[in-house]
Amino acid sequence: MKKGLLIILSGPSGVGKGTIREYLMKDDTVNLKYSISMTTRSPREGEVNGRDYFFVTHEEFLDALKNHKLLEHAKFVDNYYGTPKDYVEKLRNEGKNILLEIETKGAKQVIDKMHSDDEISIFLVPPSLEELEKRIRGRKTESDEVIKKRLAKAKRELKKEVLYDYVVVNDTPKNAAERIIQIIQSRLKKNEIN
Ligand code: 5GP
Repeated sequence: MKKGLLIILSGPSGVGKGTIREYLMKDDTVNLKYSISMTTRSPREGEVNGRDYFFVTHEEFLDALKNHKLLEHAKFVDNYYGTPKDYVEKLRNEGKNILLEIETKGAKQVIDKMHSDDEISIFLVPPSLEELEKRIRGRKTESDEVIKKRLAKAKRELKKEVLYDYVVVNDTPKNAAERIIQIIQSRLKKNEIN
């Protein structure tokens, strides 16, 4: 059996990765499994442990890191985030295509580690910085201080697009998701032929 693809979806906070992920997960032609990350951040309203994230303490996170249980990890605005390695490997060995929705530092670690036939890296960008600010503020889930930190970080993160196989503009989530589905479909076809 062919090993599943690893699909890295990255981009600045607030660009709409979560919404696009929902579109991608609903599409049966690409057959994706979402990799649930571990984080030390507190759950937002409506978020469920084990579905949106594994919410853990700092101690539990550092323990996982020390024991090499994470494929990648990053500190993002005062909290840690990481991808559990065993889960991803198990599913890929079963032929499932895995979607990682992660920030840019973690994405770089995965891009550096993986063989390019096994992974696709996609960088999602906003139509403009003004639009990104509007989206982060519109979410109303963070304090003004956190919003400012996230925006400053987004400006730095946007410079990282050269590292990725594809850059997709999130004009509307539906359009962006459709483009990403096409990218994944054509890679799956190519891998079938080779
Ligand atoms: P949020 O707090 O908004 O859920 O996530 C903050 C940022 O961390 C987002 O850019 C999100 O994509 C990213 N993120 C979520 N899980 C992971 C992970 O496992 N690893 C890394 N490196 N980033 C993650």
